[in-house]
Amino acid sequence: MTQAYAEVIGDPIVHSKSPLIHRFWLDALGIDADYRATHVRPDELAGYFESRRGDPAWRGCNITVPHKERALDLVPDPGGVRATIGAINTVFRDQDGVIAGTNTDAAGFWTPISALDLKGRPVAMVGAGGAARAVLFALARMEVGPVTILNRTPLKAAGLLASFGLKGHIAPLDARLPAAALLVNASTLGMTGQPSLQLDLSPLPDDAIVYDLVYAPLQTGLLQAAEDRGLDAIDGLEMLIGQAALAFELFFGAEPPRDRDEELRDRLTS
Ligand code: NAP
Repeated sequence: MTQAYAEVIGDPIVHSKSPLIHRFWLDALGIDADYRATHVRPDELAGYFESRRGDPAWRGCNITVPHKERALDLVPDPGGVRATIGAINTVFRDQDGVIAGTNTDAAGFWTPISALDLKGRPVAMVGAGGAARAVLFALARMEVGPVTILNRTPLKAAGLLASFGLKGHIAPLDARLPAAALLVNASTLGMTGQPSLQLDLSPLPDDAIVYDLVYAPLQTGLLQAAEDRGLDAIDGLEMLIGQAALAFELFFGAEPPRDRDEELRDRLTS
């Protein structure tokens, strides 16, 4: 019988860390399946889903830039992700073999902060793109207080808060931070090859958490500034591994061994 497989698709795709993560878990659990990276250009996306739909060995795929929104037009969205996050990052087969799209980014973001009580507490977030939408989805469910969005193009953030039922403010990148209990960087600032994120963290309270979604590099300038101020920090690998874990269960029907996260993190950073 042909070996079962899942894959990550994107354009470009060569730098994706997903194959390393999923193969680590497949090996750890002794599951005879593969997880690969497949380069799919925008004009190939519809044909890609058409061909995979009829392949019984295909368990599904993760979707990365630039296909997360467009894929919504090509696969069913039983969970209503279009109306909320507006993008899918995982396509899987349900119990009847029917393919469905979902988004595991929001839950992947939420897992490392799930034990925090942020109800009613102010939050600040940098960025207003796709990742920011997944963050706002999770924050709304945590019933956080006012959310201040700082973005290069403040207008792009207008309407975002209301669409998630949140209250707060929109501000430019050089605005003073509020006394937020959680600061999230959901922009590309601080990524390798991008400008750094320059923020004055002094308005944050001493128990604030700083969460950077950027994972390349892992130790960003923002996380360094948080450590220098003695604040707890969460890096982008936490969310990356978290969203992958949920997708892995959907593809292979098994829970990944999260007790081996430290070993996995070492591999991802070596
Ligand atoms: P996106 O949709 O392209 O949004 C990019 C955001 O960054 C926008 O807010 C954009 O501002 C801002 N930005 C880009 N270049 C900028 C610049 N030169 N100066 C100021 N602002 C700039 O990207 P995304 O998919 O949301 O991803 C954002 C980040 O999250 C990336 O670093 C990505 O790797 C990370 N991410 C991590 C995970 C994880 O699992 N850890 C998951 C998803 C995403 P404008 O609105 O003004 O254009």
